[in-house]
Amino acid sequence: MAVERYTFPFTAIVGQDRMKMALVLNAINPAIGGVLIRGEKGTAKSTAVRALARLLPDQVVVDGCHFGCHPEDLETLCSQCRDRLNDGENPLPTATRRMRVVELPINASEDRVVGTIDLEAALKEGSKRFEPGVLAEANRNILYVDEVNLLDDHIVDVLLDAAAMGVNVVEREGVSVMHPARFILVGTMNPEEGELRPQLLDRFGLCVDVEGIRDLDQRVKIVEERASWEDDPAGFYEQHGPAEDEVRGRIAEGIATFPEVDLPRQILRLIAQLSITLEVDGHRSDLVCARAAQAKAAYDRAGSVEVSHVTGVAEMVYSHRIRQVPFGKAAPALGEVITRIVSA
Ligand SMILES: [Zn+2]
Repeated sequence: MAVERYTFPFTAIVGQDRMKMALVLNAINPAIGGVLIRGEKGTAKSTAVRALARLLPDQVVVDGCHFGCHPEDLETLCSQCRDRLNDGENPLPTATRRMRVVELPINASEDRVVGTIDLEAALKEGSKRFEPGVLAEANRNILYVDEVNLLDDHIVDVLLDAAAMGVNVVEREGVSVMHPARFILVGTMNPEEGELRPQLLDRFGLCVDVEGIRDLDQRVKIVEERASWEDDPAGFYEQHGPAEDEVRGRIAEGIATFPEVDLPRQILRLIAQLSITLEVDGHRSDLVCARAAQAKAAYDRAGSVEVSHVTGVAEMVYSHRIRQVPFGKAAPALGEVITRIVSA
């Protein structure tokens, strides 16, 4: 508890607004598909992710379940919770837990990621003994993958498949175990250390590029804030308490209200136009953009998605999906291009 209490507050992170917003939007609707944060070292990436976890609402889980199954979401229950239900534990007992950040070790094996079935126990005792992996821990939490570009391609595929399906199925010699694996995937990479395959890039819902802050006053502020936090973490946290509560409240509200936020047809047409003009392959970008704009509207407490919500998220949706910015050789920044398309 003590360690958690002294996580650097989300709202005290200087600058990096786009990165913070991308994280918040995924917290509101994890179906956006996670976020890839590209940038050099020392740009508050992991601090922001840890700080976000503190702002997320507690969850109701099935008591005693390894995977933190949602007791009311019967469709996604793990094999064990299903067995418990069938054995008459109905309703399943509940508990609450705090959301947390699960970190994927850089050299994790596939077994470590998906978990393993103890075949010997299965044969001897006829029981399914399952050693849960990272995906089990990550269910309904944040899965943080530092330096995702340095991971084995195969492991990245496994991760992204689970993220897309929302479930992890492990099969060995006719024995199979299934559990939900819905998580907010946050990957980071330093592009100087190698690129990510384009097929994998596209599977991250959002992408933000973070840079070290060049503004003099902001740089000074970073040092000052850091110093006063290290000096008195409790006092520093208390000082930022009201701002933290504000964001926490808006995220909780957003989670509850985003499905009701209206997505007018002309907004969907605008999004389709963006995808066409930016020459994006496939339809994933349209879906992600609609979801992200809807989550942004919910965060802004709007009842309907407006053009400003689309422009507020478009760069995060398209930056990793375009081959190059259209409109000639002196390519303008993507943000400018988006503004041009939207106002055309
Ligand atoms: Zn379960």
